[in-house]
Amino acid sequence: MRSIILIAPPAAGKGTQSDMLVEKYGFAHISTGDMLREVAKTDEVIKSKLENGELISDDIVFDLLQKRLISDDCKKGFILDGFPRNVNQAKRYDQIVEELGISSNVVIYLDVDKETALKRIVGRVSCPNCHRVFNDMIEEAMPKVSGKCDDCSSELIRRTDDNSETFGKRYDVYINNTAPLIDYYLEKGILHKVDSGMGKDEIFEVIEGILGGIND
Ligand code: AMP
Repeated sequence: MRSIILIAPPAAGKGTQSDMLVEKYGFAHISTGDMLREVAKTDEVIKSKLENGELISDDIVFDLLQKRLISDDCKKGFILDGFPRNVNQAKRYDQIVEELGISSNVVIYLDVDKETALKRIVGRVSCPNCHRVFNDMIEEAMPKVSGKCDDCSSELIRRTDDNSETFGKRYDVYINNTAPLIDYYLEKGILHKVDSGMGKDEIFEVIEGILGGIND
């Protein structure tokens, strides 16, 4: 069983690359952010934390994750998009890797500068139906018809935490909590750094090269 962890600052392209990997290789896509946004529909405390760009407690995240990992679609392999977010989560996840008998645990670090990430975030819109992501500020990522999904014509929506103010907070949270994971996984020898300033297809090619060179 293969586990692929994507680590990146906000808007480095985790979601887009996950979708491309899912489509081509049939991996399950596990986004803790998506799961938490679902919970936030009925939980005001989590809703307000998400809107502030704060991390949710490790126990809540693990509860959601463990339920998700036992689904049949994870058997072939899965992508962790947005998890782990801190070293404590990474250590707890190491135990899960042992328990589930995961043979290949690969970490892809998408590196992007703050300015590029901000530009990507303020223009980001997505389809609530098929989850395709567009950007109304970046020429090559704009939908063909403004505000509508190219694939299913649904009305595109903007995440409430995708604004420059929350971005600043999420970026700080990333630097303080998530960036230390880079050293953690470098020491384990399983981290692969990818320059995420390129276009999505070029990034995908690099990721495929990395995954192709690792046996399950
Ligand atoms: P994302 O969709 O990955 O950008 O996550 C959106 C928000 O969900 C983050 O800003 C956090 O508030 C929360 N979140 C997502 N994943 C985690 C996690 N692994 N641990 C704690 N909070 C998380």
